Amino acid sequence: MAQFEFDYLIVGAGFAGSVLAERLAADLNKRVLIIDRRPHIAGNAFDYYNQEGILIHQYGPHIFHTNSQRILDYLSRFTEWLPYEHRVLADVDGQLLPIPINLTTINKLYHLDLNDAQAEAFLAEQAEHVAEIKTSEDVVVNQIGRALYEKFFRGYTKKQWGLDPSELDKSVTSRVPTRTNHDDRYFLDAHQQMPLHGYTSMFNNILAHDNIKVLLNVDYREVRGRVKFGHLIFTGPIDEYFDYCFGKLPYRSLKFRHVTLDQPQFQSVAVVNYPDEAIEHTRITEYKYLTGQIHHKTALTYEIPQAEGDPYYPIPRPQNAELYKQYQALADATPDVTFVGRLATYKYYNMDQVVGQALATYQRLLATEQASAVLDTVYE
Ligand code: FAD
Ligand code: UDP
Repeated sequence: MAQFEFDYLIVGAGFAGSVLAERLAADLNKRVLIIDRRPHIAGNAFDYYNQEGILIHQYGPHIFHTNSQRILDYLSRFTEWLPYEHRVLADVDGQLLPIPINLTTINKLYHLDLNDAQAEAFLAEQAEHVAEIKTSEDVVVNQIGRALYEKFFRGYTKKQWGLDPSELDKSVTSRVPTRTNHDDRYFLDAHQQMPLHGYTSMFNNILAHDNIKVLLNVDYREVRGRVKFGHLIFTGPIDEYFDYCFGKLPYRSLKFRHVTLDQPQFQSVAVVNYPDEAIEHTRITEYKYLTGQIHHKTALTYEIPQAEGDPYYPIPRPQNAELYKQYQALADATPDVTFVGRLATYKYYNMDQVVGQALATYQRLLATEQASAVLDTVYE
């Protein structure tokens, strides 16, 4: 059998690529080259200490949460954790109110003093029954009615996606539930914690294996045909891999405005959302809440949605799913390449879901490796 310089070439050093590199190198003793066109590892989870020495997330706030013990156990090999429960306020009608909408939100917004059961009845009264829930508008209006939808969801969603919620799949706003108790946590997952020394530090540990070589500032196109490898794992945009042969898959982009203020604190929670369409940013994040860092200054990021720029969000809507299916069929017919991750499978996945997808992909690669090892023995 031919000897390649690397058994695997992995394009993209985010969660998808790095987890696979680690598994292949550590568990299967494979030689892996992992490349990224950015000047750093960790993909969109990349964090770093800014000029003032405050740990910030270059690509906006990344909060780790999962219900999977298996995924947590896997990542725990590479990091210690800082317990952190995420809380978000929305700037609505001149007040800062908890989102997901909860009992406090309703009482403060409408100057009421409802209990849980009364809030449930209140929302049931507001709700507009939608026979078949298809869109991001349907899901919210059906649950809490048009007034709250307009205040908390419509403007934010239009800014974030450049589309009206009625044009987006229901899965988008379904990410944000509604509660009639006082629980003001953004997530209810069993495990909510941040890597103690940050994401980049965790990725350094994931990739710290003698069988793994990391090459940064290098695009796949630059190494194609110049590196010998057995199998390719691609975690970049799938339409780009196939030269946009069926047309461009739409991705939503963001501009991040990073600011450091000469004061210890700016806002009362980690993230404040701005649903008002007249304000260009969707949210402001204050990192010290996420990282627990003590510092006399504070660092913020404003997120300003953009049509053009780095692809951050696959846009869930039927016509995009159809277009992706065409690329997926092509990917299925390209067995020497494995497509994995948020961009390569065009899925609006959280970090834990990408880790889960990468671990499952590893199991499939392992089965293929074992099958070909059996064949090698048979034909020896
Ligand atoms: P990526 O992290 O995008 O990594 C892909 C890498 O491939 C990139 O570094 C890219 O440079 C590289 N690449 C692409 N094409 C090429 C090429 N041709 N040549 C070389 N390199 C290439 N998830 C959560 O769980 N919690 C959160 O709070 C959260 N917040 C988020 C906030 C924002 C603003 C964004 C955009 C995402 C957020 N996510 C969050 C999602 C999270 O970022 C993703 O789930 C995760 O980073 C996906 O990992 P990945 O490896 O699939 O992709
Ligand atoms: N959303 C909204 N108002 C909010 C928060 C969220 O309309 O205050 C909608 C919006 O469409 C957003 C989606 O719900 O894109 C999912 O929110 P999430 O906080 O999960 O977004 P992400 O962190 O992935 O950007």
